[in-house]
Amino acid sequence: MSIPKIDLKNLSPLELEYFISSLGKERYRSLQILRWLYLKGAETFEEMTNLSKSFRQALEQVSFISILHPTYVEESRDGTKKFLFQLEDGHRIESVLIPEKRRLTLCVSTQAGCAMGCRFCLTGQMGFKRNLSTAEIINQILSVRKTLPPQTSITNIVLMGMGEPLNNYENTLRAVILMTHPEAFKFSSRRVTLSTVGLLPQLEQLMKETVRFRLAISLNASNEETRSRLMPSNRHHPMKKVLELCRTFPLPPRVRITFEYVMIEGENDSPEDAKNLLKLLKGIPSKVNLIPLNEAPNIPFRKPPEEKILTFQEILMKGGVTAIVRASKGADISAACGQLQGKPMITHP
Ligand code: SAH
Ligand code: SF4
Repeated sequence: MSIPKIDLKNLSPLELEYFISSLGKERYRSLQILRWLYLKGAETFEEMTNLSKSFRQALEQVSFISILHPTYVEESRDGTKKFLFQLEDGHRIESVLIPEKRRLTLCVSTQAGCAMGCRFCLTGQMGFKRNLSTAEIINQILSVRKTLPPQTSITNIVLMGMGEPLNNYENTLRAVILMTHPEAFKFSSRRVTLSTVGLLPQLEQLMKETVRFRLAISLNASNEETRSRLMPSNRHHPMKKVLELCRTFPLPPRVRITFEYVMIEGENDSPEDAKNLLKLLKGIPSKVNLIPLNEAPNIPFRKPPEEKILTFQEILMKGGVTAIVRASKGADISAACGQLQGKPMITHP
């Protein structure tokens, strides 16, 4: 029986080092391979010209380099691009490239579908299909990067596409390590953001990890009852406990946790909610992103009128919390927050 080949992109830098040493090679060889794979985007062993031919052949016998090709790319009127990928087993995932003034942010998926079932989110309505491998997470970056014109580069990565990243803990963390590793993608930890509903055991584990990135918590309500109604995960991972952990999260100086708050008419948008939110965030270095709900036919909610959103924001600001209203981009191609469901908007031939 032959041993299956290993996808090198599923290995963390340390795992790659062990793998390379099991082939009798030195550590610096694994660093060379990291650079080929992630800094230069090599897709074959042949390209790795600073490795000897015999070593490349040995690698080819036991490993391979996976690649992800987009099935469709759709561009929104505001310049946002949605990339649809079909995985080997037929599941579909999406990445969204969002150009802003001085930033080019890529929003990547960590799962096909999502098990959390938030009632305002189309990905939640699809249900859970499966976890993505580390390779499938980082191949989204490599694949999108290849389409960019010269001199243009992705500046920020947000793990805010399909799926709940902490529900795919090991693969997501390995992907984040590769994103921030100096010999791999080399993103500064300030430019990688992981967004989560806040799963308690995983958050506790996260506090012990050495890898650094920015943390965003999807709060979306100012009391347990509303949050449990909107986000079923709150029943097992109540907001108060999530916030207690946030209070003790080891943050570098001047770094804040982002709290995302999808604004839904009549559910969580009252001045009372804003005041409760201020109380909840006391003692946590925080900033709040207010995201007006992206409406969709299957979502039983509406976004609040603009005045209500501005009043909410004002209460937070007066209470000393930075609050930004974040209009989602790419709504016309279903690329905005909560709209990812693995389908193109237009039917392609
Ligand atoms: N599962 C993770 C990351 C993906 S969702 C999480 O929930 O944090 C990314 C963001 O989109 C979350 O903050 C979520 O609250 C928001 N979102 C989901 N559905 C939305 C919708 N219909 N309109 C606006 N934002 C939405
Ligand atoms: Fe999953 Fe996030 Fe959507 Fe909730 S908001 S269903 S956690 S993707």
